[in-house]
Amino acid sequence: MTRDRERGGERVKRTLPSSVVAAAVGWFAVGWVGVSNACAWDSAGHRTITFLAMDGFAGLAPDRPAFLVSDTSRQIAAFQASEADRYRGVRHAYLKHENDPDHFLDVEDLEKFGLTLETIPPLRYEYLRAMAISKHEHPELADGDPSLDLPPYNPRRDTAKTQEFPGYGAHAVMRHHGKLIAAFRTYRSLERLNDSARGAQMEAARANILHEMGQLSHFVGDLAQPLHTTRHFNGWVGKNPHGYTTDKGFHAYIDGGVVSLHKLNYATLRDRATFDRKIDEADPFKDVLEHIRRSHARFEELYILRKSGELDREAGKELIAERLLDGASMLAAMYVSAWRLSELTDRDQEDFLRYEGLAGEPGGPERPAKKDEKKTDAGAGAGGGAERKATPEEAERAWEGAGAGRGTGGGGQADR
Ligand SMILES: [Zn+2]
Repeated sequence: MTRDRERGGERVKRTLPSSVVAAAVGWFAVGWVGVSNACAWDSAGHRTITFLAMDGFAGLAPDRPAFLVSDTSRQIAAFQASEADRYRGVRHAYLKHENDPDHFLDVEDLEKFGLTLETIPPLRYEYLRAMAISKHEHPELADGDPSLDLPPYNPRRDTAKTQEFPGYGAHAVMRHHGKLIAAFRTYRSLERLNDSARGAQMEAARANILHEMGQLSHFVGDLAQPLHTTRHFNGWVGKNPHGYTTDKGFHAYIDGGVVSLHKLNYATLRDRATFDRKIDEADPFKDVLEHIRRSHARFEELYILRKSGELDREAGKELIAERLLDGASMLAAMYVSAWRLSELTDRDQEDFLRYEGLAGEPGGPERPAKKDEKKTDAGAGAGGGAERKATPEEAERAWEGAGAGRGTGGGGQADR
């Protein structure tokens, strides 16, 4: 272990708060550095994946919300599929710091933190903790393998601190899968209530579904782009025995140029789309890792085809088409699983009403009180503000609703 590396370990341990401050200060001093070179598919590619997956969703789950069939709904979801990239265009270090690493997972770099795709912790902050501990205990690992001729991580060149770790792509997919389940469940609650006073709520619920379908599409789509799963995300880095391209326009070409060259879009791909991916509803994370593994397995082929010139011919067209179609198939499976996992129980419905009761607040619509129900302040807490003593069963439900279990919309309000 060198002295430099020891100092690096100390820095991590003692000066994290000031380095965060420095990052923010440095960021605002430097200003926006532009959309980085890891955007994944241009909006055309993300739209294509979304349209295809919505077709797959319709076929696999005919009971899905009927409003999704309209052209406007499809267009909104497809537009939202690029929203996470639009976040990147805002001068906001805090957003960049959180958002940018959600778009990739550089599989080889897991090794630098003692991890692999098989051992990556499914929970985001457990994953971060494992990496921070590993980096502290083995800074020599975090600096990478000198035999590969890779430069060590340089925090001074990473103002918003987005490149230190291998990325949170898999965790971003899980976050939006969860949010889509929540959005679907709220929709189901409102549909069951069928209350004209809740028209605005239903409109919001539909918008949330389309937003989350788009968000999920973005991150599933990003990870289907092989360059989002490798440290060689924009030209080969380090030792390069095969003489692969180091062109800093390579990523952008895969995102958009080659897609457009081969005319790969919804119209040309829809007849080839098959929707045979499955999600294990009990453990979707491992299917997401498989999705990443399939994509990562093909990244070097992109470099080989670029070198041979085949990228612009049939072989390149087939590879890119396969990646877009696989992204769409995976996304359709995630839509289906989110819809299935959002199925409403009576308890969910009761929870929804407990926290979203229309209690006659000023300007709000009125819901007639049931005979045995006293008016309460909506969202007054896990107990719902009910004045009568809760039965043990109700108390247990309220407790679970406040945690991370099946509690719907209002559950979280009791927490904070
Ligand atoms: Zn992206």
